Amino acid sequence: MTKQKPEAAVAQTEAFNQAVLDWFSGSGRKDLPWQQNPTPYRVWISEIMLQQTQVQTVIPYYLRFVAQYPDVATLADAGVDQVLHLWTGLGYYARARNLHRTAKQVVQNHGGEFPHDVEALETLPGIGRSTAGAIAALSMHIKAPILDGNVKRVLTRYFAIAGYPESSAVKKQLWTVAESLLPEQKIAAYTQAMMDLGATLCTRSSPACYQCPLTSDCQALAGDTIAEFPGKKPKKALPVKAVSMLILRNEAGHVLLEKRPDSGIWGGLYSLPEQAANDTDASPEPGWVAYAESGLQINPLTLEPLPTIRHSFTHYNLDITPLLSQGWKLEADDATVADSDRWLWYPLDHSVEVGLAAPVKKLLTRLKPD
Ligand code: SF4
Repeated sequence: MTKQKPEAAVAQTEAFNQAVLDWFSGSGRKDLPWQQNPTPYRVWISEIMLQQTQVQTVIPYYLRFVAQYPDVATLADAGVDQVLHLWTGLGYYARARNLHRTAKQVVQNHGGEFPHDVEALETLPGIGRSTAGAIAALSMHIKAPILDGNVKRVLTRYFAIAGYPESSAVKKQLWTVAESLLPEQKIAAYTQAMMDLGATLCTRSSPACYQCPLTSDCQALAGDTIAEFPGKKPKKALPVKAVSMLILRNEAGHVLLEKRPDSGIWGGLYSLPEQAANDTDASPEPGWVAYAESGLQINPLTLEPLPTIRHSFTHYNLDITPLLSQGWKLEADDATVADSDRWLWYPLDHSVEVGLAAPVKKLLTRLKPD
């Protein structure tokens, strides 16, 4: 049994449809090339081209394409290289390959006619639920919802639907809403109107609400929260790596810096000698000597931990614990620092001009020059 909508919901849906259709009859786009003789084939080509691409860019490509391949049979007969050649410049070439595969399947499996059924359309290569809905509604007048980027923007704002629209829960909610709003009549005009509203009025950064037919009930407009919809993609928590950096100061107060290898992070810049953070977690016996990764010999009991700082890279955060040692002297048998191309005693008045790794610069500016 079909679920009955409560009367208030029916009235709201009808008011929404009427507002959208009235606006479309006065202000919607009606002269786009694929709106003339909107056969399933012509609508399908336009919908695929319009994925990821602006209308103005698509128009000349579309006109050339349908002039060369006026129907699904001519496209199915073409070589894939010819199709790709016509697509050159539009980008996302998988779309062209899928177009060609779909044309062949329509000819071979459906007698050259696109199926009059959204689920069957969705089984064809490159046709998702929204594209199937658009082909069905615009060319076959089937009552089917669409949910392209423009429609998602309008619906998330109008109903103040929070969350990232590509997440499965929000997407499911949006499909339910889109379906519940479909009018009984004029499905093609309504579908085009919803696309046009999003493309021309309810734009991403500066929606023209003063011209919009939905102003009276738009929740984002009423709450002054338009910029919050559609919700942004949640940021992934970045993994955290930890390292200790040795701030070894000599009797003059200068800090020992090490030049990093040319490749890798901070390539060719000067940085503090590092050691794996865990090396200092142990409770060393007096006289225990740590060997930092840089080959220096250090007594960990002389190291004073300073507050940890975080440096963010694109793919991870690096927690740096500075370990300070004042009045540090070379061990008699430590010849490492004699290699002056690699090591530098850096004066904290910054009078030596060298490239410093960003967090090192930050750490050094916090130290008092002696
Ligand atoms: S009133 Fe503004 S935010 Fe709301 S649907 Fe219309 S253009 Fe979009």
